[in-house]
Amino acid sequence: MCEFCLKHGEGRKWYLQAGNYSDDLLSDVRRRRFIQEFFTDTEALKRGVERLGRMEKTPRLVRSLVSRVISRRMKRVHYGQVVPIEDVERIFGMANSIVRVACICRHITLGQEKRYCYGVSLSPDGGRFGQVIRGLDKSFLNGPDVQGFESLGRQEALASLRNHEAEGLCHTVWTFHAPFIGGICNCDRSDCLAMRCTVTEAIPLMFRAEYVAEVDPDACRGCRQCMRVCQFGAMGYSASTQKVRIDQKACYGCGICRSVCPQNAIRLHDRVKVPAAAGRW
Ligand code: SF4
Ligand code: SF4
Repeated sequence: MCEFCLKHGEGRKWYLQAGNYSDDLLSDVRRRRFIQEFFTDTEALKRGVERLGRMEKTPRLVRSLVSRVISRRMKRVHYGQVVPIEDVERIFGMANSIVRVACICRHITLGQEKRYCYGVSLSPDGGRFGQVIRGLDKSFLNGPDVQGFESLGRQEALASLRNHEAEGLCHTVWTFHAPFIGGICNCDRSDCLAMRCTVTEAIPLMFRAEYVAEVDPDACRGCRQCMRVCQFGAMGYSASTQKVRIDQKACYGCGICRSVCPQNAIRLHDRVKVPAAAGRW
């Protein structure tokens, strides 16, 4: 069980607690302002990217201190956690409103509007969260191929997430001033700023899932399709056994490898029950 479950989940998965999606949390003006700025102040995010670039030249000790400070702040303000598709389905099962919006990261890194993000609310029509982001329609979602929001039904949203999974994207759930949860993103290492920060720059903003993967060596045929989609470098191929192995210390538990395995040889286990991975978030 991760620190977020202990802090925001009363000992259960924090992102499956309906209270963390509550409209009541949006009566906090600071939180609403943060959401508005997050989606509209792209210059601030661009400055963040430039700072990240400079961090690479910073001495290791300074870098480690800065990393800790940033990570601690983001755990309060805007952090994500990897979630496998079955938990996305549980989240969608609680939601009364799901809207698909363009991804702010791709807006910055690719200069393109890619609809990889999903606002989730327990209130019909998105409640206050819907009101806040719908109010941004003109300023944020105005790319050439974007006509604002798309409201999706649960099954439609889930099918869309499965398509993202087939593209090799990793599902993540995000807070806007914890514990309020605003949505689900679909990330990859080259275009997602949070994943880049976490995996490439070692500044954790996006945390490991409550799960970890394992390959059944008897079922594995060594085709290596799984290795092509692991964004976390957690898989290795043994030439002597001609099978794939997962480094469970490196695995984020996204389950993307599982979805491409033609032999159904990969399983997700509760992280806390796997000694090699328990306690690594
Ligand atoms: S995709 Fe499945 S069968 Fe192929 S190497 Fe990976 S675990 Fe083995
Ligand atoms: S080994 Fe599989 S579950 Fe683990 S991080 Fe890689 S793709 Fe995700």
